[in-house]
Amino acid sequence: MSELHKFIFDGLPVRGQLVRLTDAWQEVLRRRAANTQTGAWPPVVAEMLGEMAAATVLMQGNIKFDGALIMQIFGDGPLKLAVAEVQPDLRLRATASVVQSVTPGMALPELVNRHGRGRCAITLDPRRRREGQQAYQGVVPLVDEGGAPLQTLASVLEHYMRQSEQLDTTLVLAADEQVAAGLLIQRLPVQGQDNLSQSSVAREDAGSAADDDYQRIRLLAHSLQRAELLSLDADTLLHRLFWQEPLLRFAPLAGHQGPRFACSCSRERVAAMLQGLGQPEAESILAERGEIEVGCDFCGQQQRFDAVDVARLFTPAAQQSPQPGSVQ
Ligand SMILES: [Zn+2]
Repeated sequence: MSELHKFIFDGLPVRGQLVRLTDAWQEVLRRRAANTQTGAWPPVVAEMLGEMAAATVLMQGNIKFDGALIMQIFGDGPLKLAVAEVQPDLRLRATASVVQSVTPGMALPELVNRHGRGRCAITLDPRRRREGQQAYQGVVPLVDEGGAPLQTLASVLEHYMRQSEQLDTTLVLAADEQVAAGLLIQRLPVQGQDNLSQSSVAREDAGSAADDDYQRIRLLAHSLQRAELLSLDADTLLHRLFWQEPLLRFAPLAGHQGPRFACSCSRERVAAMLQGLGQPEAESILAERGEIEVGCDFCGQQQRFDAVDVARLFTPAAQQSPQPGSVQ
């Protein structure tokens, strides 16, 4: 079962989360493999998308926001676009589109940043938009401050968190065909650091002690090996890393409260999209192909609209003939 664990270090300005996606991640992969047009993703693409899915759960779990958190990588290489989306209740979906051949062992820069134009965007899309309200979006390039290509998704996201939230964050991510997992450690602003009644020396001492705590916990997090992150259960993993630290854990989020696969696509949305396309365009597709078929990239669901369905889309409801069995 997929799980999200949250914890704090008692008395220290550091918090953390651990996510393990098992059934939810396997469902994303199973649906892609079942798509006869695309087939399964190459393993390096699946690994990157799994890391994105795990990181997106961690970032959604880290904020109080009533809306979807969407992570997108606009690739500049064989991987053109990768998307992971997590709702506030941790329903998630993810997809990626590959446009050129991918070879085993390709690193992040070769996969999505071949010419230095790859981007990572994080969007917060409010569930109920007030009039005029826009989704918030932050975009970072896939390079460090000096312009050197970042080698891992974790380093791209740490860079993003420093820029957007001004918070030092450590991420360890890993995925394979069974599990997508991640560990997040974040330094919190120290309370009282701005308190003018304290002497500046005391403030500096408090600041550097907090810094030591964060750096020590960060190093422990970085000692985590990929195989451990993928294979150990949460209790074993957290004990192995932090047994000397004052760890306080919250009840894990799992099952119906935990991360789980769900797609928000529907026939109504595809119908609205076709209406937006306009009747002449819809009819020209019909004339060419006999029917309009729209597949969802996230879940693989196919929606088919034949000539009758399309005619109905562009007929005002009052003029539509009653459905068989409907009561007048
Ligand atoms: Zn769907």
